[in-house]
Amino acid sequence: MKSALITGVTGQDGSYLAELLLSKGYKVYGLRRRTSTQNFENVQNIKDKIEWISGDLTDLASLIEAVRISQPDEVYNLAAQSYVAASWPQPIATGQITAICVTNMLEAVRIAKPDARFYQASSSEMFGKVVETPQKETTPFYPRSPYGVAKVYGHWITVNYRESFDMFACSGILFNHESPRRGLEFVTRKVTDGVARIKLGLQKELRMGNLDSLRDWGFAGDYVKAMWLMLQQDEPDDYVISTGEMHTVKELLEVAFSYVGLNYEDHVVIDQAFVRPAEVDLLLGDCSKAKEKLGWELEVGFKQLIHMMVDEDLKRVEAESRYNQFVYAT
Ligand code: GDP
Repeated sequence: MKSALITGVTGQDGSYLAELLLSKGYKVYGLRRRTSTQNFENVQNIKDKIEWISGDLTDLASLIEAVRISQPDEVYNLAAQSYVAASWPQPIATGQITAICVTNMLEAVRIAKPDARFYQASSSEMFGKVVETPQKETTPFYPRSPYGVAKVYGHWITVNYRESFDMFACSGILFNHESPRRGLEFVTRKVTDGVARIKLGLQKELRMGNLDSLRDWGFAGDYVKAMWLMLQQDEPDDYVISTGEMHTVKELLEVAFSYVGLNYEDHVVIDQAFVRPAEVDLLLGDCSKAKEKLGWELEVGFKQLIHMMVDEDLKRVEAESRYNQFVYAT
């Protein structure tokens, strides 16, 4: 039986990846940071199937111990401070977690299980102020946020460990990928949650930032398959994973609001609080290398993804509001 160690397993990608690996018969170890409250929402259905190991990305000794205990064939490093907007008010914490801790994880693998295959979650945010369109593996980076800068470090240290120590280390440059499990602060989920609240009469307006930025949005469930495929190849390499299609935030609003029979212009208010100090105007990925070499294929398209997210948020918000009515009435 193969074993895998995942950092960030309770996040969106970690939970989909854990489900995928469990379905393939892997023993899945999840690194868990000790906190006084735990959020298992994304892994509710599989939490008893995951072997939990206590550890902290900032503490190398705990990572070496986690690798020693799990003896993983594959390590997926998905943990990060992953919200771009939060990286300006917390630039140093973002650098520590999203950049330096990649080296901690690589060191733990190099010391305790150097033949383990390593996946680093790199990001299209590294392309930032893009120097060519579409962006591919060879496109130079020009990050536009402390988050993007930190991810560039994570990417290159992964390449460097591959070249320095002959480790099977891969970097997946994933464009935006979303799902009903996406954090509520990200634009897709903020919109689909807002649409659900407005439709159910719980909220009237939705306050947003820049509606003109263009993103290449795919489904997280499709993207974790690419992570796994990268670690099944004969040679380690880096791959762009994307849909090859881009849409504005305005289009996202149109698709989400019109799905429930509403017009976004009646509800969206521009609020400067959500406009960023430096913006990434457009991201569009060319994933032909992944298609050709990994045989990776996309299954869920943009509209289908947004509709799926609206449907799930309608169900959840309705259930929450029914529960609140019950609590206040009793
Ligand atoms: P990112 O591409 O990793 O930064 O993903 P996000 O989902 O956080 O943001 C995608 C784009 O939506 C960015 O260009 C944001 O500036 C834009 N955007 C516009 N309004 C909002 C908002 O209210 N919240 C967020 N998160 N993004 C917004």
